Amino acid sequence: MAPDHAGAVLGAYLAGELPAERRDMVEHHLLTCVRCRAEVDAARRGRAAVEQAGEPAPDRLRRRVFAAIAAARARPPDTRDG
Ligand SMILES: [Zn+2]
Repeated sequence: MAPDHAGAVLGAYLAGELPAERRDMVEHHLLTCVRCRAEVDAARRGRAAVEQAGEPAPDRLRRRVFAAIAAARARPPDTRDG
C-alpha cells in the first residue's frame, strides 16, 4: 500500500469528478511523482486513441457487431446488470 500515491483517485481526477481541493492535491502530487504522472499520461493517451477511433467501422467489424447484437437478442433477457 502506498497511501501517498494518487492511484485510487486518478480515475475520478481524469473524469473531472474530484472536488477542487482534492484535484489540487492530485495535481501537486503529479508534479513530484513520476509514477502517477505516467499513469495519467497512459490513461489520457488511451482515451485520445478511443476518441480518434470514432471514424466509421469497417464493414467486416460492423457485421460482427450486428451479428453479436442479433445473437444477444435471441437469448432471454439477462436482468443482472440492467
Ligand atoms: Zn504517486
